[in-house]
Formats: sequence, C-alpha cells, structure tokens
Amino acid sequence: MRGGIAVIGEVEDTGAGENRLQINRRKGMEDRQIKVAKFGGSSLADAEQFRKVKSIIESDPARRYVVPSAPGKRGGDDEKVTDLLYRCYREASSGGEYRPTFAAIRRRYQEIIDELGLSVTLDAEFAKMEQAFLGQAGEAYAASRGEYLNGILLADFLGYAFVDAAEVIRFDKDGIFEEERTNFFLKKKLETVERAVIPGFYGADDAGNIHTFSRGGSDVSGALVARAVHADLYENWTDVSGFLLADPAIIDHPRKIDAMTFGELRELAYRGATVLHEEAVYPVRREGISIHIRDTNHPEASGTLICRKLREEDEVPITGIAGRKHFAAVSIAKNCMNSQPGFVKKLLEAFEENAISFEHIPSGIDTVSVILPKEEYEEKEDAITESLRRHLAPDKIEVDRDLALVTVVGKGMRSVSGIAATFFTCLGVANVNIKMIDMGSNEVNCTIGVKNEDFERAIRALYGALVGR
Ligand code: ASP
Repeated sequence: MRGGIAVIGEVEDTGAGENRLQINRRKGMEDRQIKVAKFGGSSLADAEQFRKVKSIIESDPARRYVVPSAPGKRGGDDEKVTDLLYRCYREASSGGEYRPTFAAIRRRYQEIIDELGLSVTLDAEFAKMEQAFLGQAGEAYAASRGEYLNGILLADFLGYAFVDAAEVIRFDKDGIFEEERTNFFLKKKLETVERAVIPGFYGADDAGNIHTFSRGGSDVSGALVARAVHADLYENWTDVSGFLLADPAIIDHPRKIDAMTFGELRELAYRGATVLHEEAVYPVRREGISIHIRDTNHPEASGTLICRKLREEDEVPITGIAGRKHFAAVSIAKNCMNSQPGFVKKLLEAFEENAISFEHIPSGIDTVSVILPKEEYEEKEDAITESLRRHLAPDKIEVDRDLALVTVVGKGMRSVSGIAATFFTCLGVANVNIKMIDMGSNEVNCTIGVKNEDFERAIRALYGALVGR
C-alpha cells in the first residue's frame, strides 16, 4: 500500500515482517512477479542518474525488463542526445560540418562509461554510425541510436541481457507500426530471457530499416514490453512526482493525483495534461496492466497510479482540472430545427466532408453549436460555410472565435450532489462568464467554455472551490 492506495502488482506486506518475495525466496521458490520499468531521458542523463536507476532496479527483483530512453538534459540549458542526433544527421547527410556535434554525442556516452568504470566500448558502434550518417541511412536510424547506445550501457551496468529493439519491435516498410507482430516477437524473445534491457523509441521493418515512434515514444515501447510479458505493473520512471491536479504554470504547487482510471487519464491528457505518451496507454489498458508513474529522483514518493478501476474508498470527487485555449464555436440557427429528423446527421456530414473532427456539440431547440480548434476552423472556414449552407440551409451561422475550454475530470463527481452549483457559484464570484457547459453523460468530466482571457482565472477559481489548498 502506498499513500492509502492499493498498488496493483505491488508486493504486499504480509504483516509478518516479510513480503511475498521474501517468503518465496526463503522457501527457495522463484518469484514470478514481473514489473517493466521504463526510464525517461532525464533519469539516464549521466552517470549519477545511472546509479540511481541501478539502485531502483536492484531494490525490487520483480523489475526484470527495463526500457531506457536516450540521455536527456542534465540541466536547464543542456541538450537531449536525441536532439543532437537529429541535428548531427542533418549536418552529415547534407555534406555539412557534423564532426563537432558527433563528438559531443560521443562525449555524453564516454563520460558515463568512464565514470561508472564500465568495460564496454562503443568505438565500433560510433565508427559504424559515422559511416551510416554519411551514407544517408535515414533520420529514424540516426535518432534511434540514442536509445540503442544507452541500452547497451545500461545492460552492461545492470548485468542484464541486451535485446535490440530492431529485432522485436516491428514496423512495415512504410513505417506503420505492427502491434500484433511486435507482440509475437517480443513474447517469443523475452520468454527465453530472464532479465533484459530493451531500448525504447524504435524498431525495424523486415528489411532491417529502422523506424521510430513519435517523440517521447519510449513510453510506447515500455507499454508493449509490459503487454508481451504480462507484467503485473508497468512502471514509468520520470522526473516529476506524478500527474498534478492542475497545471503548475497556473496553480501554485498543485496537489498530485494519487490514483486515477485510464478513462480519467484519457480525458486529462486530451485536455492538455502531459506526462505520458498518449499511445502508451492502449497496450496496457487492454490487458488490465496498471501504469505507475514514479520519480527517479525521489523513489520513496508514491507517484501516480493509473488503473482500470479504483477502489470506491480511493475515489475522490475531482481527479484533475485541465484545459486549452483557442477554440471556435460555430452556431447554426434554423427555425423548427428540433422537428427536422436528421438535422444533426447533416450537420455532422458537413464537417466530415471537410475532414474535421469536433470537440463538443451543445444544442438548443433551434440552434446547435459545433466547437472545434479555432485554427483548424479558420483554415477551412469557406469550405465549411459552403457545406453547411448546402446541407442545412440554415437561417443564420454565427461564429465565436474567443473560446477556451476548461474540463474538470473526476469519476467521483457522480456521487457528489451540488457539484454543478459549485461550478456556477465559484466562476460567478471570480467574475468569469460561462459561455457553455457540457457535462459528459458518464459524469467523468464537465467542460466549461469561457473567454480566452478568463481561462487562467476560471482554473484558479475551480481549483480553489473544488480542491482547496
Ligand atoms: N528519445 C526520444 C525523444 O527524445 C524518445 C523518448 O525519450 O521517449 O523523443
């Protein structure tokens, strides 16, 4: 148990001073619990961070599969190795001066090797890389070397096997990720390897060409490994204490979210809260594997647990508050709209034929509004207006271009009466004019539309009233 929350997959204390692992070990039984631990770039930025990672791994034998990122920033004005690699490749492949950048990348790894006293050498790897850069092996190949080399060092430091992601994470020749084939290859390989480091972020097609996920994609690799080995828990080690209840740029020291469901995470991430790569959620969610966000610099801290279902006693009314600015609301008015069957269908067709997905469609009796990102709307404004006229012959089309959306997320809201009244009261007191309110029918979220200039004030008012200090 951590902070009152049952961590699924956590080794429970039996109350007899020994946990399940210790008992099993005493009885000479091998423990089969498996945790996959993914470490982000700042967690592996230098030798000191490598030491922290080793002590985290060694403190729990269940941490059998480790997925590293490339070395990240060591401080404010430092550069991530991945960024250096992209730059170096551009320089080398265009016939420019690439050597200083190449040397800087090499130094990052050499410093780790020297400080940790590792016996591996990367000389041959760097010679191969230089030829490949000059031979235009591709941007994805170049970027992937950050994780690849870090994986070699980490495997050596931990005494774990190294499994090249190019062997097990599969893409097709066009760079489309192949999830089922990946699962098959990963499973087959890891069945035979008790403890391994598998670098994140990249994989390969059948011809051996390297492809990467989008930036931050080591989170996805970690989730795929967790799925393949049926992990009890997917740990995502990073440099923050967990998900915060609101954006710290707006709320001074917001509270941390101790636990939430996958559904709540999806709502918050969609509204702008970022800690995890969005695509990292699906592989583990389907298998019912929980994700535990942890802080490498404070391994004693409880982090944020993301799971399928919270125990009732762990539910809190408000899980998080997030939002984004710069939306447009396109309102269509037509007399007796409510009695025209298929009106909303035609409305949606008008947006669909312009390849636009929307956020909300609040409606009244004779009006319906579609809310979508302002920039996207303005790019296609003429075409959308034409489609709306053709499909709907509306009496009037009005556009509000000054809308920010604030979403309050919390499954626990269902069981608290008077929550909506609190929204209205606190926003009224803060002098924020509510332009729209949309309470999701599952009551996991409530979205409020306000003017862009009221965005921060609305979040502060809601946080103050719903969460307190
Ligand atoms: N190193 C890659 C990036 O910087 C992938 C990752 O860290 O997850 O985006």
